[in-house]
Amino acid sequence: MTGQEFHYIEQAKLGNVLAGDGPFTKKCHRWIEESTGSVKALLTHSCTAALEMTALLLDIQPGDEVIMPSYTFVSTANAFVLRGAVPVFVDIREDTLNLDERLIEAAISPRTRAIVPVHYAGVACEMDTIMDIARRHGLKVVEDAAQGVMASYKGQALGSIGDLGAFSFHETKNVICGEGGALLVNNADLALRAEIIREKGTDRSRFFRGEVDKYTWQEVGSSFLPGELTAAFLWAQLQEAQSITDLRLASWQHYHELLAPLEQKGILRRPIVPDECQHNAHMYYVLLNPEIDRQHVLSTLKQNAVDAVFHYVPLHSSPAGLRYGRAHGPLTITNQQSERLIRLPMWVGLTEQQQNKIVDLLLNATTN
Ligand SMILES: *Cc1c(COP(=O)(O)O)cnc(C)c1O
Repeated sequence: MTGQEFHYIEQAKLGNVLAGDGPFTKKCHRWIEESTGSVKALLTHSCTAALEMTALLLDIQPGDEVIMPSYTFVSTANAFVLRGAVPVFVDIREDTLNLDERLIEAAISPRTRAIVPVHYAGVACEMDTIMDIARRHGLKVVEDAAQGVMASYKGQALGSIGDLGAFSFHETKNVICGEGGALLVNNADLALRAEIIREKGTDRSRFFRGEVDKYTWQEVGSSFLPGELTAAFLWAQLQEAQSITDLRLASWQHYHELLAPLEQKGILRRPIVPDECQHNAHMYYVLLNPEIDRQHVLSTLKQNAVDAVFHYVPLHSSPAGLRYGRAHGPLTITNQQSERLIRLPMWVGLTEQQQNKIVDLLLNATTN
């Protein structure tokens, strides 16, 4: 909490606008557009919703293929499966755990429509290469930047590089409003349809701007916008987005220094951030030496009231992933890394003493 959340919620209530697209939503839109350089930002009720909008906007049809990592959250795939498309899972890079750009071209078929890079832990995918592949093959790029708010690649904000991008403001992310997200439209040709799809398929936004004298059903859409109370909460967070990021980065750096000796001893590997990526300290994870029993480490931490977790169960190995998706190649790195990974506690207000204790416990659990 930044301290202003309830103040803005009260203002929203006093202003008598509780539905979506009121003054706080507009402030949030402008903030996102100015801080990312995106042509148009639209708040949604989740990043999941923003991803679903991208599938509608790109007119994804049954049988179309969409290239994405298997090592991601389910929403990346669901958004396209809902339109009857087939997620084609490509392996990840050993260093960043992001979609391996060197494997994308071999996975392209005549049915491929889009590439969905996921910026894991707020560390950018190799976007120059991915955009170049997309251009050469006539594909669209949708950035799943759920974890990428306030992070950048070669100085460009994540979410603003592909044709479309999706942010999450879920309470587990860096900048939050409970449940919330945003669609970033970077291709001006898609901006008007994005508004229509988000407003139940109507041109209601154009009507409120006075551009048409009545609003009507234009195409298939749904209700993707959050109410003003959510936007008011988010506005308090966006105003402090830089200080939130700075505090998280300080905690990230402290973990990184404390864990250097464990890496030297071969107990684990620390995160790797390429020079061209400015990350946002969304998470601090370690990759345990494969000889170490991860479950033992996690339960030892839990017994000491440290809530460390693993993820993801790769989508290609899940029941729905097997049913709706297709793995391209053996996905060796995905399988290996997902079994070694542990996320350490990370939040604004985490103290150095708490971090020292967590690392001591980790050292004990991995060497006993
Ligand atoms: C959190 C997350 C989502 C979903 O975000 P919601 O706002 O909860 O819908 C999608 N993709 C990735 C990579 C995420 O981390």
